[in-house]
Amino acid sequence: MSHSLSVERWRVVGVVAAILTIGLLTQQWVLAVLIPNAAYIVWNLYQFERLERWLQRGAKTSKSPDAGGIWGLVVRHIFRRERTEKKRKKRYKEVLRRFDSVISALPDAAVVLNKNMEIEWSNKKAQELLGIIKDRDTGQAVRNIIRDPDFSHYLDKVKKSKDMECTSPVDPLRDIALRLTPFGKNQHLMTARDTSEQMALQRMRKAFIANASHELRTPLTVVSGYLEIMESAHELPASLRAPIVGAREQAVRMEGIIDDLLTLSRLEGTRLPEKGGNKIDVTTLLTRLVKDVSQTIAAESHTFQLDVDSALRLKGVETEIESVCTNLIKNAVKHTPSGTVIDVTWGRNGAGQACLTVSDNGQGIPAEHLAHLTERFYRVDVGRSRASGGTGLGLSIVKHIVERHGGTLYISSEEGQGAEFTACFSTKRSC
Ligand code: ADP
Repeated sequence: MSHSLSVERWRVVGVVAAILTIGLLTQQWVLAVLIPNAAYIVWNLYQFERLERWLQRGAKTSKSPDAGGIWGLVVRHIFRRERTEKKRKKRYKEVLRRFDSVISALPDAAVVLNKNMEIEWSNKKAQELLGIIKDRDTGQAVRNIIRDPDFSHYLDKVKKSKDMECTSPVDPLRDIALRLTPFGKNQHLMTARDTSEQMALQRMRKAFIANASHELRTPLTVVSGYLEIMESAHELPASLRAPIVGAREQAVRMEGIIDDLLTLSRLEGTRLPEKGGNKIDVTTLLTRLVKDVSQTIAAESHTFQLDVDSALRLKGVETEIESVCTNLIKNAVKHTPSGTVIDVTWGRNGAGQACLTVSDNGQGIPAEHLAHLTERFYRVDVGRSRASGGTGLGLSIVKHIVERHGGTLYISSEEGQGAEFTACFSTKRSC
């Protein structure tokens, strides 16, 4: 820099020397000042024009104007900046190329959507699973490519971190799980996973349980029928009565397990249409159930308190909602000691949802069991559950039914303080 400035200083000295020489030789001092200055200005304008042309042609190193002085300094500065910029661009390109190849190599489809849900970028797998072709579809609204009303609904309404299960728009025999993850400024990353194998396994398991249960049911009904006949036969020796009664109880228990397994496999993975089902008078249903249970298994042992909003109805499948109520009410009797008070309430919660709560002041459930209660065959006390005729499938059935109706099952309990089971249904289902 100091060299360029000293070159420029010498040029100014040259101009001054030229003024003095011309002035002393001609004694025409006006001309003496004008001529060298005009020459200096013209020369500078020429350098400026060269610089301008060089910049317009892309500021290539090989064609940089070589003017020395301050023009050389300006060229060098521009050149240096240009070189840093090129390096940065190259680095970005490399990062983008690597990002592109990593995302393209992912086994899942990945699509970047802007705030208007238009495609900004997609990988190869997106073509295979969703029919989105990067070169053709970039800039298009994603719902124009995936033309499915459920998908449009998912884009608009569903909490974006939840999965949506559907069939591939390219191949109806393929199951996929879609997920939208928000990032940046209102952008979304849409990923799609091929779940065909998983779903096929699930369907196989479901079919196996359903078939096995059906196959077991018929011979068991026959065995149970014979045991019933033997039990009521007068000529049955006294020594055989107890074993026959025991065997019949076990046969009835097995029938219960088979029925519950069949119910579960029927409910599993199915969802009611948003407006599916009939208007259910839950108050009448609860009143009848509480009366039945009070006169049978809870007679003289448990007290019921019923608090209901009789105007509140629920839209759903009546047999399923009855199963929820029966399971929760019977559990409150079966798993609590004599003298327990059971509260059954039906009404709206703070968020306006219709909720059924069955709570008791029994012995409660230790905290470590709470998260597992809705798993199949999970019991806190296996012996006690079996003795009370439990199958260990009741709460699993309750959870499936509640979720099928777009609701949630909440369980809370403290040891020694009783337990509370609350099923809350989506506001769209209350009427
Ligand atoms: P079960 O056929 O044994 O009743 P469930 O799935 O209905 O099966 O319930 C699972 C377990 O949850 C029960 O075995 C019991 O240990 C516990 N449980 C359910 N309800 C209550 C309750 N009100 N109080 C205490 N424990 C309960």
